[in-house]
Amino acid sequence: MDTLSSTKLEPRYRVVILGGGIHGVGIAHDLASRGWRDVLVVEKSIVGSGTSAKSTKLIHGGLRYLQHPRDFPLVAEGLEERALLVKLAPDIVKPLPFIFPVLKKGGMPRFMVKIGLWLYDALSMGRSLGRHAWLNPEQAFEEAPILDKAVFKGFYRFFDGQTDDLELTRRVAKSAKKLGATIAEHSEALSMTHGDNGWTITVRQGERTSTITTKYVVNALGPWAHEFMARANIKPKVAGINNQGTHIIVRDLGLKSGLFLQSPEDSRIFFVLPWKGYTLIGTTEDNFDGPADNCRPEDHQVQYLLERCNRFLAAKLSKDDVIQSFSGMRWLAGDPKSGLSDTSRSHLITQHATGHDVLYTIYGGKLTAYRALSKEVADLIAKSFGDKSKSLTHLKEMWAEPESMPAELVVPQRFNVL
Ligand SMILES: Cc1cc2nc3c(=O)[nH]c(=O)nc-3n(C[C@H](O)[C@H](O)[C@H](O)COP(=O)(O)OP(=O)(O)OC[C@H]3O[C@@H](n4cnc5c(N)ncnc54)[C@H](O)[C@@H]3O)c2cc1C
Repeated sequence: MDTLSSTKLEPRYRVVILGGGIHGVGIAHDLASRGWRDVLVVEKSIVGSGTSAKSTKLIHGGLRYLQHPRDFPLVAEGLEERALLVKLAPDIVKPLPFIFPVLKKGGMPRFMVKIGLWLYDALSMGRSLGRHAWLNPEQAFEEAPILDKAVFKGFYRFFDGQTDDLELTRRVAKSAKKLGATIAEHSEALSMTHGDNGWTITVRQGERTSTITTKYVVNALGPWAHEFMARANIKPKVAGINNQGTHIIVRDLGLKSGLFLQSPEDSRIFFVLPWKGYTLIGTTEDNFDGPADNCRPEDHQVQYLLERCNRFLAAKLSKDDVIQSFSGMRWLAGDPKSGLSDTSRSHLITQHATGHDVLYTIYGGKLTAYRALSKEVADLIAKSFGDKSKSLTHLKEMWAEPESMPAELVVPQRFNVL
C-alpha cells in the first residue's frame, strides 16, 4: 500500500517547499535526515506527477553531454550519484546494458564513439557499472533482435542505470515522511506575500483554503516556478526555458539492452529502452511557451519518434503501435532565444532575501543528481540558520522500506492519471 496522502496543515513551518517533484521531496528528505522535522512539502497533485514521472528513466551521467566540455563536471556528478542510488534503492535503480551502434552512413565515427565511452568510464572514477567494449554483431542482434542488419557497421556496449522515476520520487518522499517531514498531496500553493511573520502562503486543499507562514520557502515547482512567482508578484532573477520532451510506449520489442541511437538527419540522440515489459522511446526537444498544465504530446512529436526509430528497426512501427505517450518539460535557466544545445544542463539556485527570510528558486537539475542538488539547498538553509548539521541521505537507514505502487499508478495506465 502506498502511504502518501493529504494532511491538515499547521499554521507555521520552519521550511515550506513548493512542489512535490524529485527536488522538492529530495530537499525535505535531506533536511529531515539532519533532524529538521518542521518541514512541509505542498504538491498540487500527487508526489512525482510532474516532470519527475515524465523522464527517460535513466540514472546516468549523460553520455551525450560529453559533447560540451563545460558539462564534464555535471557528467561526473551524475556518475557518482548513479553509483550511490544503485546501492540505496537497488529494487528501483538497476544497471542496464546499452548498445551504441556505429552506422554505415552518417552518425558518429567509431573513433569518436570510442573516445566518448572511454571518457565516460574514466569520469565514473572506478564506480562504473561495467566497462565499455566492442560487441560482436551476433551478440548485438541477439540482445536487440529488432535492429535492421543493413544499417550498422558495428556496435559498442556500455552500462548505465535505469529506474522507475515515479516510484523513486515517491520512495524519497516516504523516506522524508518517515524522518518527520510533512508531505501534503492535493495541496496547491495559490499565492504568497511577505510581511512581519515572514512568508505567508495560501494553500488550497479541495474545498478548504488555509494560510501558512514560514521563514524559508523553496520554489521547487520546476516548469511551474515562474507562473507561481508571477502570482506572488516576485520578479525572477533569471530567464527560464521550458523545453518539452515527448516519449512513446510500444509493445515489448524483445530488447535485452537499451539502444543509444543518433539520428543522422539532425544528429539528435534518442533512446529505445526495455521498460517494465514494454519498450520506451524518446525523446523529442521543442521549446514550450504555454502554461505548464497544457503540455501534452503532439502528433508531430509522436511521428518524429516513430520515423527516427524506424530508420534503425527491421520491423517498422506505426501510430497504431503506440500504447501511450507522455510529455515532460526540461526547466532550465537560460536565454529563451538560444537553442537547447547552447543551454547548459547545470542547475542554478537563485535567492530572494527579505531580511532573514529567503525564497530559493531551483532551475535545471536531473533526476539522477537530485540528491546533490537537494543537499546544496539544505546546506544553504541550515547555514543561514547557523546550523552545522550534515546531510545523511547517503545512508540506507535514512530510507523508507519498499512498498508496492497503487494499481492506478502501474505502467502504462499511470499516464492516463498523471
Ligand atoms: C523529457 C525529459 C526527460 C528526462 N530524462 C531524464 C533522465 O533520463 N534522467 C535524469 O536524470 N533526468 C532526466 N530528466 C530531468 C528530470 O526529469 C528533472 O530534472 C526532474 O524530474 C525535475 O524535478 P522537479 O522536482 O524540479 O520538477 P517536477 O517533477 O516538475 O515537480 C514540480 C511539482 O510542482 C507541482 N506544482 C506545480 N504547481 C504547483 C502549485 N501551485 N502548488 C503545489 N504544487 C505545484 C507539480 O505538480 C509538480 O509535481 C528529464 C526531463 C525531461 C523533461
